[in-house]
Amino acid sequence: MYTIRLAVEAIKANIPCNNINCEHSYEYVVLSNNKGFKRIRPCAIKWRPFAMMDKHRPTKAALMPIIHSTILCWFHIMQTFKNHFRTQKIDLSLRYPIALAFKIIGRCRSIVEAKKMAIEYKNFIYSLPISTEAKTFFIRDLEENWLSKEWVLSFIDDRRLPS
Ligand SMILES: [Zn+2]
Repeated sequence: MYTIRLAVEAIKANIPCNNINCEHSYEYVVLSNNKGFKRIRPCAIKWRPFAMMDKHRPTKAALMPIIHSTILCWFHIMQTFKNHFRTQKIDLSLRYPIALAFKIIGRCRSIVEAKKMAIEYKNFIYSLPISTEAKTFFIRDLEENWLSKEWVLSFIDDRRLPS
């Protein structure tokens, strides 16, 4: 978990500033634990990027204190979603519409908007010719795994655009 933090911190400490007259000099400083040294650039800019990641709690915990925010990777999200189609035995013809409805929630720009869209999603899921278990599963999956307090801001588009 801390490997990823060390890697990002090493990059952060070495990004040259924007001053064209600066020589962007660097130096090596001894680590406080005496276990080696690190390279830093005194002119390094304050960089707080968004980081795209898989849904992995330790990664998020390592990154959050040193970056702006995390974004869940949609390839990873859809991979998970695809597995649900298989386990819930969803007919091929229904998979794309369900995935699209799910994706629309992901594109919402605020939690309020996402919650409103989630109601539409719920109605849509209930209207489908799938088993009651599958309906319950997809609605619960959205609420518990994607719109949960922990992940909602990494799932939807909120706060990603420059204000
Ligand atoms: Zn510089």
